[in-house]
Amino acid sequence: MQYRESVIDLIGNTPLIRLKEASEETGCEILGKAEFMNPGGSIKDRAALGLVRDAEARGALAPGGVIVEGTAGNTGIGLALVGNALGYRCIIVMPETQSREKIDTLRAYGAEVRLVKAVPYRNPDNYVHVSERLAAGMNETSPGSAFWANQFDNTANQAWHHSTTGPEIWEQTGGRIDGFVCAAGTGGTLAGVGRYLKDKNPNVMIAVSDPGGSGLYNHYANGEMKVEGSSITEGIGNSRITANMAEAPVDVAFRIEDRESIPRVYRMITGEGLLLGGSSGVNVSGAVHLARRLGPGHVIVTVLCDSGLRYQQRLFNADYLQSKGLEPPEFLQGAATRDEAADV
Ligand code: PMP
Repeated sequence: MQYRESVIDLIGNTPLIRLKEASEETGCEILGKAEFMNPGGSIKDRAALGLVRDAEARGALAPGGVIVEGTAGNTGIGLALVGNALGYRCIIVMPETQSREKIDTLRAYGAEVRLVKAVPYRNPDNYVHVSERLAAGMNETSPGSAFWANQFDNTANQAWHHSTTGPEIWEQTGGRIDGFVCAAGTGGTLAGVGRYLKDKNPNVMIAVSDPGGSGLYNHYANGEMKVEGSSITEGIGNSRITANMAEAPVDVAFRIEDRESIPRVYRMITGEGLLLGGSSGVNVSGAVHLARRLGPGHVIVTVLCDSGLRYQQRLFNADYLQSKGLEPPEFLQGAATRDEAADV
């Protein structure tokens, strides 16, 4: 018999996929790590497992304990599935601006979801601080009952990528990798993978691709954490250097606007059959920028973080897109016409 012991064993060991358009456009081999194939549907299953395993090892999470976290959604989904498999309940604090699909998925996993207003990190009512206070309150009433995962500043996040995602990419490319690029939310992926690849070969170029509404591009390019513009992408960008991001060996930064990343999301659907979320569009666009920087003939790896279905009501909603100044994809305009025709 061949089987995995539990859903936990389905996390990680994702394949690399050659990205056709990006590779042909640049003369490089641009490969995407298919993190949307994780059981919870995103790269954050890995961070969730890393944070939980580290907490168990430190004695910060005991059987019957409750995991509390502030998250844009995907980490919560990862924590909920890992928690259910291992016997921990989850309370997730999330900004109300995040996609309906992520909130519904969390509830479907049985997690308790608390939505809060989206306010900056410096505001004490930011979702991260609310989640920290919630866990502290629970621990005051019942010591040791709650574990605050703290994905942004708990470096067990990047450590897990250093021991899983990084080695997988090195093995899968046979060490023939010249560059790695991805966007950063917590920075766990970029720091963990970046550090591993640099350990193996210091010449591998590590790049961050940053959307509008984030300060990371300006921080790395100009030495000033200045937030400019906005983006419909979720789960990426930051206005501070988290403890995880502080470990990222960043060589170069690219600013990727929605008008570049979102059309790329649509072209990957129609041209390659890959239905991905907005952060994957930022990552693949970043890989194209890095390929242009390195020149033809190089191998560049990036991350396909989650599925576009997680953002269906936004990415495939012409009114929403137009309200954000983005052009709906041609196939969506065609669908609207067909629906109208069906009404007649
Ligand atoms: N893409 C998506 C869709 C995410 O949810 C996240 C995590 N918030 C990231 C990318 C960024 O990953 P990391 O937190 O490791 O920087």
